[in-house]
Amino acid sequence: MISAVPRRELESRIKRILFVEPQSGYSTGFNDTVRVETLGPEYLAGAVSDVAESRLADLRVPGVDLVAQIEEFQPDLIALKCGYTTDVPIAADIARQVKRLDPRLPVIVGGHHISLSPKDLFIPQVDAIVYGEADEVFPALVHELGTDGKLDRIPYLYYQDAEGEFRSTVPPGKISNLVLQNDRSMNERPEALRSLCDPYRDDYYFLYHMRPYSIETARGCRYRCSFCSVWQFHQGTYKVEGWERTFEEISRIPNGSYVNIVDDLAIQVMPHEDYRSSDAWKLANALIESGNRRRFWMQCRADNIVRNQNLYTRWAEAGLDMILVGLESDDPVELKRVNKGSRPNVNGEALEFLHSVGIKIWGAQIVFADWGHEKFDHLTEYNQRFEIDCPQFTIHTPLPGTVDWETYKDQLITHDRRYFDFLHPVLPTTLPIHEFIERYVQLYRDCHMSFQDLMKMVRDGLVTHAGVSAFLKKFRNLLEPSTYQSAIDLHTRAHS
Ligand code: SF4
Repeated sequence: MISAVPRRELESRIKRILFVEPQSGYSTGFNDTVRVETLGPEYLAGAVSDVAESRLADLRVPGVDLVAQIEEFQPDLIALKCGYTTDVPIAADIARQVKRLDPRLPVIVGGHHISLSPKDLFIPQVDAIVYGEADEVFPALVHELGTDGKLDRIPYLYYQDAEGEFRSTVPPGKISNLVLQNDRSMNERPEALRSLCDPYRDDYYFLYHMRPYSIETARGCRYRCSFCSVWQFHQGTYKVEGWERTFEEISRIPNGSYVNIVDDLAIQVMPHEDYRSSDAWKLANALIESGNRRRFWMQCRADNIVRNQNLYTRWAEAGLDMILVGLESDDPVELKRVNKGSRPNVNGEALEFLHSVGIKIWGAQIVFADWGHEKFDHLTEYNQRFEIDCPQFTIHTPLPGTVDWETYKDQLITHDRRYFDFLHPVLPTTLPIHEFIERYVQLYRDCHMSFQDLMKMVRDGLVTHAGVSAFLKKFRNLLEPSTYQSAIDLHTRAHS
């Protein structure tokens, strides 16, 4: 997407960069069950490692103090992430905190949400916002900021001018359908600087797996779901790195680790393509031949699973443990409503196949605000029938920058970004809000991974007892009605 960024001599006064990962926003419940290595800052730190030392203040980890980190590290630049809509108020607070400490310390922001809704952080304490993938923009920005250069020379930026006005160098948006396998920009990315997250690794977890690692093998998506901001962020493109690079990266991760593949669409084989020529197939074979003992989690589409069953069987042999399948709904009308481009029978076929080859299922499903009781009944029955190991119920939330935002923005009961966490209905509910929330909580009571299954994994030596206990503690939040009191209050206020 980003090309022709002027890459100059990287002589810059900026020698120390503090990346800041904000603490989770208003998000509660399921989001608490995953805290993983943050790859974006690691790639950016890798891109400037020849000119600057980088550190990470991971504010998701209890006890990490931003002020202490700034005072100790004395950074020349703060690179703040705003990946989720719920991060907006927190990122704004962090920027204010930094400028109170040192008004001359530049604060730049990047990430998924802020690229698509930059005005959310057009505040005096933010100097610039990077749009989209920042691999090439970031080094150029470090150079210009450190040499009193001109930010208007850098494309894909929103920046404050001398008068405090935000200017844009972002070209007009254009959605392309480009699919790039073995993509040069992916292959030539600097390595992720894992030392950034290593100090926090003991505090990372993925469900009940401790000390997980993250890798990225592909970016973007060729589908066009209306609720999803991924394809908008990547301007419609889908890029996959060559399997050799992924294999080398995995080889550097300790054997026995749990590896979270962050791709929004992993091991995707194009409809016209033979899976045996794909990078995903070659990678699975290489992992098996190498005696890999790492286990993997990834996100895939049901139709890709059904079309390429041999590929997934091979990946099960290579260590694929669990797949997040974007099922969304068992209702063809609802699948059409979100432009999923798939069908309920395909979802069912994928679920049965995955269990037959021993791959666990994280089933991502949407709960719509206009649901009545019968829809909740059906969803419960569906999850129990297919024995979905790890059901995820996200309340339909039109995110800024998506097609759904344009469709529903006039119906929103709030624009407060803290509530856009998929656990608060931000659209009016058809059921009274108390009943809606009761039914929602009951979904998690009736459908979740069984305690026996978790204990069996402990006995099989796949996870530790401590990991399971910590997971269950966090999961219990989801079953607590008090977790949702803010949603009830929000709707009560909206109707008063
Ligand atoms: S939900 Fe998944 S398949 Fe749909 S556009 Fe987003 S990443 Fe692609």
